[in-house]
Amino acid sequence: MNRILIAEDNPHIVDFLKAGLKAHGFTTLVVEDGHQAAELARGSDFDLLILDLGLPGKDGLEVLQAVRGQGECLPIIVLTARDGVDNTVTALEGGANDYMTKPFRFEELLARIKVQLRDRHPTHSPPSETRLQVGHLSLDLLTRQAWVDGRLVELSAKEFVLAEVLLRHPMQVMSKEQLLNRVWGYDYDPGSNIIEVYIRHLRRKLGNDAIETVRGMGYRLRS
Ligand code: CA
Repeated sequence: MNRILIAEDNPHIVDFLKAGLKAHGFTTLVVEDGHQAAELARGSDFDLLILDLGLPGKDGLEVLQAVRGQGECLPIIVLTARDGVDNTVTALEGGANDYMTKPFRFEELLARIKVQLRDRHPTHSPPSETRLQVGHLSLDLLTRQAWVDGRLVELSAKEFVLAEVLLRHPMQVMSKEQLLNRVWGYDYDPGSNIIEVYIRHLRRKLGNDAIETVRGMGYRLRS
């Protein structure tokens, strides 16, 4: 249950998806055109389809129609850059299981993928993970609350995600680029100092010693 078909024609997003999914143990195949996507999605080679709506050949909505028209129940998560609810509603009515609007955070897409795969394979799923704890820090992923030594601390949405990424990789040095990718998605300016700014916020809230700077490499959570 880890083979994912990616139908996306933007090379930047393709690289972002492939790298992230590979890091989480998924096998991916990328197609850049709607005809190929519809062909491949009909077989039984994949566990999930990530489907861009704006595809050459056949657009995403036509792919959905073709795939569902064949009675194929492969989970499909639609990616859409299009504003407004019309396309989303059409996609969901057309049989998409879920959707994400670009730009999106990888961690959020990953969570949605896991939900789809879990719903399909309920007997194999591990108990859902709602609490992360490393050392003095603890995060509740459902209520989005954070604690230091049992004391509740207020984190903004982005601070929470940054903390979550660090807690998910304890003892591991996370490069600035990895953090940007996971917290801000592909839609970031690599030259910005936003990571430094947010690390500073997190240190103020979680304790100065909570996050270590590894010179020239990145940041690491101290446990
Ligand atoms: Ca596109």
